[in-house]
Parts: sequence; C-alpha cells; structure tokens
Amino acid sequence: MDFFNNLGKTLSEKSRDAAKKAKDMADIVRINGQITAEEDKIAKAYQTIGKAYYEMNKQNEKDEFAGYFMEIEEAEAKVAQYKAEVQKLKGISVCPNCGAEVKMGTLYCATCGGKLFQSMDASGTETVTGTVEDSNQD
Ligand SMILES: [Zn+2]
Repeated sequence: MDFFNNLGKTLSEKSRDAAKKAKDMADIVRINGQITAEEDKIAKAYQTIGKAYYEMNKQNEKDEFAGYFMEIEEAEAKVAQYKAEVQKLKGISVCPNCGAEVKMGTLYCATCGGKLFQSMDASGTETVTGTVEDSNQD
C-alpha cells in the first residue's frame, strides 16, 4: 500500500514540478523581453545624448572625445561612398535639389521638377548637359 501511495504522490509531484518549470520558462522569456525593451530605451537615450554632444562639440579638436568624432566623420564618408556605389549599380542618381532618387540620364527631377545639371551616359561617363545657345559666338 505504501508503495502505491508513494508512487501516486511522486507522479503528481513530478507533473506539478513540470508545470512549474514550464511556467518558470515562460516567465523567464517574458521578463527577458522586458529587460530587452528597457535596455533599448537606455541605448536610445545614450544615442540621443551622444549625438547632441557630437553636434555641440565636433568643432573642438581638443575635446576628450575628438577621436570618436573622427571615427564618425570617417564612417559617414564611407556610408556616402557606399551609397553612391549602390546608386551607380542601381542606375540611379540623387536630385541635388530635393534628394529624391532619379534615373540616371534624366534631365528633370520627377519629384521637384528641378533641372538635373549633369547626367551619366550608358558607359558611366559624366556628361555636362548645357544648352547649345550658350556656346553661340558673336
Ligand atoms: Zn528633386
């Protein structure tokens, strides 16, 4: 009798333990999600503070974070260069007036209507598009 009583008790304890473990696991996942959300807030606040500090102090070469200012400038230059590479591969250019993407070789921006002063021919050679009248000789 004791054996069966003990067996039944053990099984129900085991299933209770399993249920508790499953609930604990779910709680861990939920709490970890809350931690990530709060850490994201902290990271964004740091980013806002850092960007504001950079804007206020980037001209100061003697600033204690001047090394980071240089890193930012170099990275921004690389980003601009990489973006230009992607644009060239996609066959697009950027309107100097409004920043909209325009197809290479287009004379006018479809977004703002501004004149695009230069265009690329199919070989990628830069060609300046001027009016013929400009070269009239008297
Ligand atoms: Zn434009």
